Amino acid sequence: MNTEVLNFIPQEEIEGLLARASEPDWPRLKDIFAKALEVETLSPEETAQLISVKDPEKWDAIFDVALEVKKKVYDNRIVTFAPLYLSNYCVNNCLYCGFRRDNTAVERRRLSIDEVRAEVEVLAGEIGHKRLIVVYGEHPSSGIDYIVDTIRQIYDVRVKTKRGYGSIRRVNVNAPPFSVEELVRLKEVGIGTYQVFQETYHRPTYEYVHPEGTRKHDYLWRLYVMHRAMEAGIDDVGLGVLFGLYDWRFEVMGLLYHSIELERRFNIGPHTISFPRLEPAINTPFVQETRYKVSDEDFKKIIAIIRLSVPYTGLIITARESAEIRDEMISIGVTQTDASTKIGLGAYSDRMVEQELNRQQFQLGDTRSLDELIRSLAAMGYITSFCTAGYRCGRTGENIMSLLKSGAEGKFCKLNAVLTFREWLDDFASPETRQIGERLIEKELEEIRQQMPDIFPKLMDYYNKTIDGRRDLYF
Ligand code: SAM
Ligand code: SF4
Repeated sequence: MNTEVLNFIPQEEIEGLLARASEPDWPRLKDIFAKALEVETLSPEETAQLISVKDPEKWDAIFDVALEVKKKVYDNRIVTFAPLYLSNYCVNNCLYCGFRRDNTAVERRRLSIDEVRAEVEVLAGEIGHKRLIVVYGEHPSSGIDYIVDTIRQIYDVRVKTKRGYGSIRRVNVNAPPFSVEELVRLKEVGIGTYQVFQETYHRPTYEYVHPEGTRKHDYLWRLYVMHRAMEAGIDDVGLGVLFGLYDWRFEVMGLLYHSIELERRFNIGPHTISFPRLEPAINTPFVQETRYKVSDEDFKKIIAIIRLSVPYTGLIITARESAEIRDEMISIGVTQTDASTKIGLGAYSDRMVEQELNRQQFQLGDTRSLDELIRSLAAMGYITSFCTAGYRCGRTGENIMSLLKSGAEGKFCKLNAVLTFREWLDDFASPETRQIGERLIEKELEEIRQQMPDIFPKLMDYYNKTIDGRRDLYF
């Protein structure tokens, strides 16, 4: 594929659209809302218009509709996961990252297979996670062979819990951009989502923050990684931007153009979009120096605009953000978040309590435990879903796109959310969380009984078996 010719991020066109966009009047804004509520991807012109809104009343309306879209597609479910850092050796020199090659202040480590097992025993056996995102630097010592071996090990671990057993059922991957042959191997080992963040869609900025002579300097190699993933049969992909490198308005347009390109070429949009903001990292002055830091107010706008622009996609916020911001963003459009997060290499099994920046890629803003997060979400009316059935039943790629757009995916997911939430409450919850969680389950069961009477008896059968200690029953 001649990617030079095909570059689908037309910088000048995007800049022109942003410069020309005028604030939409109410009728126009309502048309845009109607389209998003139909779960249709917005056009670049429509997204540029949302970006240009100044009127605070219109912003309030945008936030409200963003939540409405999220409810339509994902109901009141929040998916949780934990990041697991496996190797921080890196050949790149990204100016913003604590793991960059020239940063001598960071301790380098690559977990052995036994160390991976020890981490997973804590994550799946003590905390109760079912989903991980595994994270690797880019280095020959943590290339595709190591990645495949570590993922295989993670899926292998099975730990006895109070009533059942704990295991990781879905491993998402955040790793460097691979070739098609390497991606085929990731597909074979059974990964969930393959995430690669473009960091910035603005090519001059990209080439500046990823210095010449490093592998990551190649903008197009990274830009086209999801095309290669699709070619390799991975139809579940996650996009992302590191907000703070360049103007957020351009980046939001970049995410939209990337989503449209994948939809157009493969009929499959991104399963998730991530929007990390730059966080302080040890010996990394770039983070303090950037002109493009995103304020909390703009961050909220970014999430609402992406929610409307790519309405079917999952939106991920991470523990980089403070508890307050995370709670607020969940009420706008976010659908996935991490908890009990530790990002130091080996930090779960070392039972690290304080953050140790010389072991971390950056600093975390929220270190609440999974139990605390689940309790706080339940108090807000959100059910935490540990469902991992989707990819195991082939509900990915084109299949899931139509389910998401019609709202049908929400139905399967609601059933699986209840079952997996019950598992977690029985195996891992503190008494307070269990109490509030059980009240939420009662409400959910009643709703399902009324809305899906045909399937309700089967759900209750699975539900009672789950209470008896059976695990991993799903629809
Ligand atoms: N090394 C691979 C790569 O760069 O694609 C994979 C993972 S990297 C460890 C994960 C992500 O962390 C990067 O894609 C980047 O967006 C984010 N990141 C790097 N430095 C950061 C910082 N200082 N604050 C917040 N996020 C950061
Ligand atoms: Fe390496 Fe990824 Fe950090 Fe860049 S962002 S220095 S590639 S770990």
